[in-house]
Amino acid sequence: MKTVTVVGASLAGLNSVQQLRQQGFDGRIVVVGEEAHRPYDRPPLSKALLAGRADVDDLWLCDEEDQDELGAEWLLGVRAEQLDAAAGRVRLSDGAEIDTDGVVIATGGRAHRLPGIEDMRGLHTVRTIEDAIALRTELTGGAGEVVVVGAGWIGAEIASTCHELGLRVTLIEAGDVPLSRTLGDAMGSVFAALHTDHGVTLRCRTRVSAITNARDGDRRRVTGVWLDDGTQLPADVVVMGIGMRPATEWLAGSGVAVDDGVVCDPGCVTELPSVVAVGDVARYRAAPGGTARHEHWTNAAEQPTTAIRNLLAGTTVQHYRPSGYVWSDQYGVRLQVAGELDRPDEVEVIDGSPSDRRFVTAYRRNGDTVGVLAMNNPKLFTRMRKQLANRIPAS
Ligand SMILES: Cc1cc2nc3c(=O)[nH]c(=O)nc-3n(C[C@H](O)[C@H](O)[C@H](O)COP(=O)(O)OP(=O)(O)OC[C@H]3O[C@@H](n4cnc5c(N)ncnc54)[C@H](O)[C@@H]3O)c2cc1C
Repeated sequence: MKTVTVVGASLAGLNSVQQLRQQGFDGRIVVVGEEAHRPYDRPPLSKALLAGRADVDDLWLCDEEDQDELGAEWLLGVRAEQLDAAAGRVRLSDGAEIDTDGVVIATGGRAHRLPGIEDMRGLHTVRTIEDAIALRTELTGGAGEVVVVGAGWIGAEIASTCHELGLRVTLIEAGDVPLSRTLGDAMGSVFAALHTDHGVTLRCRTRVSAITNARDGDRRRVTGVWLDDGTQLPADVVVMGIGMRPATEWLAGSGVAVDDGVVCDPGCVTELPSVVAVGDVARYRAAPGGTARHEHWTNAAEQPTTAIRNLLAGTTVQHYRPSGYVWSDQYGVRLQVAGELDRPDEVEVIDGSPSDRRFVTAYRRNGDTVGVLAMNNPKLFTRMRKQLANRIPAS
């Protein structure tokens, strides 16, 4: 393999370049990144950067010197538009073509927006530096009422940051409680209380049916939202925290299978051994008989180790084992998750108490602890996380 092209210059793309070099690849590496920025960290976009506690310069994932040492060609501000896997060629938005032996797909995803709703002033999503700066400008520029749609991790963090900025916040959630699909109803209720105890209005079991708006110069501006239960809420700013969609449109016609992400085997290798996928965009085969795609920092940082090993081997020699580690910061508390929280037959608080905002909860299947959730208890969490990592058999 002489040339590897990494498409996507963010966390998973950068880690792929680092892994290529660490695993001994001394050929040409070309990195194609749609954003003009060098790789940066997204978690602060909904927290420290949005709150004004961090600057853009605090976000870079590695300094320029370390990046130069990797000896890769960084084509930033240019998009991959087509992959011709049979010919080994990637076509770019500026018309250039890269002949390549291997391809790493690290294109992450784009923030999802409610379908059928036109773009207008005051309506935001948060995925990029520009998104976070635009939202911060409005939040600190006289906004009073904010509606955040979706009480998942990112929506909850944005609600928390808006509260920190002194704004009146309403959080809209379609489920019975926040994060119920991830954490279950009992723990979801703990997160509901975290919002309401801080004065954020939480409205569950309801969806936004329309955004009300008014003319504002040459565009329209948000004035509020209609909920499907008939309620109308006023809003100066509406933020959509309703998830992301994998960025796979450029793979149309490439022969790489796509199904809510790039379809891969358990080693993150697509049907073509010279094409692997990593990070938020990768949907890999996972036991038992299903598939998984993660949208978390640690996954994007860890997955390239396996994917690059398999790419360089020309076949799948290693299966990916996610640590399942996720963190979130909301209202001054640190939340940590590891392992598997889905399909538990028992969920038990084993240390501390949710009412004290300091606890650890074990998620069990057949008596075995398979997952752990902690709030403000990093010590016990870290111990249990290590035990969970040792529990999963290596493949
Ligand atoms: C606001 C926010 C807060 C978060 N907070 C947390 C947190 O607290 N904890 C946690 O665990 N995780 C968090 N995450 C998730 C974490 O940041 C992501 O899992 C991680 O960024 C995924 O990295 P990635 O490289 O796979 O994808 P991305 O970071 O999405 O990067 C993909 C890159 O590919 C580029 N691209 C897309 N298509 C093309 C193309 N055709 N050609 C070239 N380039 C392309 C994109 O522009 C982008 O730069 C957060 C995410 C967001 C948005």
